[in-house]
Amino acid sequence: ARNLRTAESIAAIATAPGRGGIGVVRVSGGQLAAFALALTGKQPTPRLAHFAKFLDAEGRPIDAGLMLFFPGPNSYTGEDVLELQGHGGPVVMRMLLSRCIELGARLARPGEFTERAFLNDKLDLAQAEAVADLIDADTSAAARSALRSLDGDFSRRVHDWRDKLVDLRMLVEATLDFPEEEIDFLRAARAFERLDVLGADLDALLLKAKQGSLLRSGLHVVLAGQPNVGKSSLLNRLSGEDRAIVTDVAGTTRDVLRETIQIEGIPLHIVDTAGLRDATDTVERIGIERSWKEIGRADVVLRLVDARAGIGAADHEIDARLPEGVPVIWVFNKIDLAGRSPARVDEEDGVEVFLSAATGEGIDLLRSELLRIAGWEAHGEEVFLARERHLEALREGRDRIAAALARAHEDALDLMAEELRLAQEAVNRITGEFGADDLLGVIFSRFCIGK
Ligand code: GDP
Ligand code: ZN
Repeated sequence: ARNLRTAESIAAIATAPGRGGIGVVRVSGGQLAAFALALTGKQPTPRLAHFAKFLDAEGRPIDAGLMLFFPGPNSYTGEDVLELQGHGGPVVMRMLLSRCIELGARLARPGEFTERAFLNDKLDLAQAEAVADLIDADTSAAARSALRSLDGDFSRRVHDWRDKLVDLRMLVEATLDFPEEEIDFLRAARAFERLDVLGADLDALLLKAKQGSLLRSGLHVVLAGQPNVGKSSLLNRLSGEDRAIVTDVAGTTRDVLRETIQIEGIPLHIVDTAGLRDATDTVERIGIERSWKEIGRADVVLRLVDARAGIGAADHEIDARLPEGVPVIWVFNKIDLAGRSPARVDEEDGVEVFLSAATGEGIDLLRSELLRIAGWEAHGEEVFLARERHLEALREGRDRIAAALARAHEDALDLMAEELRLAQEAVNRITGEFGADDLLGVIFSRFCIGK
């Protein structure tokens, strides 16, 4: 075990609040067979569903349902786990939970079951995060990807890479003891070529992780253009059949301008620049400034123009305020009125797409252009639902490898060895094998209770 401090039993209602056919109270800890006996008057058989009455301290039934007993270490947490399935009413569930507390368990913190699974080596950190990602997944693509990480696909790739790096580190460190011919020794062992390959492997892993991160957090898109060029129409058209899941958060001025739609499972967070002008009152102006801040974080700008009019003087005012260095797709809308055909044209200042938001012609061209800019390549089953901290670790690993190679060219093999050590540490952070202590609280506190 990593360092499980206590066998203190914890309990929580694991099902969502409210009424349901079934509600589940989960208990994890040491010696739960005796706990089960006290609760039901029955000695539980491991991994067998028992129909039982859950009894209060006076022996009166609180509820009747199924009891499942998973003795550690073959359980979710690695400790004894008791699952009590009762009727899914809030009052019954609370009474059952209270009874478990009476029997010596304490209330579990959010994510504490999964945290124990991590501490007992049932899951590594990346897998534990995948549990939360699976529960939080907004699209089926994100859910599939999270499940793959939970299965350990991502962790295995990270481990493979780490093992190869360890081999190389041993080689480099061994040569440090023979200062005379160290470089020749490394050359003979093809250490530099192998390091190059490792760097490329890590890049490939980073790419897949980035894709997964895209599935998780999506792409920030700004719709910019003069009034009536068709921004709202385009938004509706793009959301298409996914319209049902469009979130339109009302409330503040800023939120009204945001919508989230999805293309191929990738969330697109769209900010409409409507209302960015003509600010008369202070509150509105603050909202507008916030919008511009968001626009500053855009990944893509959809720059709408009426295909009949083309780009005019009033457009320059908008363009002057758009963030620099952000890819722009010039959308020439209303081709049905301009008598043009759908098209995609490469131009120096961005790609031009000719379409009609009204008829839908050319929308596919825009969709694939958005996916292309997002860097979405259909890696299909290979994508890992990575988090920003995974990407950071992978990037650091890659940069350390590059630095190690540079050190080698300067004949500074001791510094090279140090870079390799740091590369390994960075990657170990993903699975929680290095420097995870401060992270644990942050990661697990974001889980729901009972998981
Ligand atoms: P916004 O102010 O930029 O959001 O523009 P809207 O989406 O509200 O559209 C302004 C007007 O143009 C509406 O009457 C739309 O129906 C119309 N419109 C938008 N796109 C097209 C298009 O591609 N073809 C045609 N014929 N009309 C369009
Ligand atoms: Zn509009």
